[in-house]
Amino acid sequence: MNSFKVEKCPHNNRVLRVIESVATSEKTVLICKDCEKQLSEPKTDCI
Ligand SMILES: [Zn+2]
Repeated sequence: MNSFKVEKCPHNNRVLRVIESVATSEKTVLICKDCEKQLSEPKTDCI
C-alpha cells in the first residue's frame, strides 16, 4: 500500500503534476496550485 491520501481544499487553482516518470508511462496527480494538496488519486498515463 502507498501512503497517498486524497485531500480537499477550498481553492480552485488546479494543475496536473507528474509525480513519477517511467519509460513509456507517467504517473500524474491533480494538485492545488495554492496549497499543494493532492486532490485526486495518482493516475498512470501511457505516453
Ligand atoms: Zn488549495
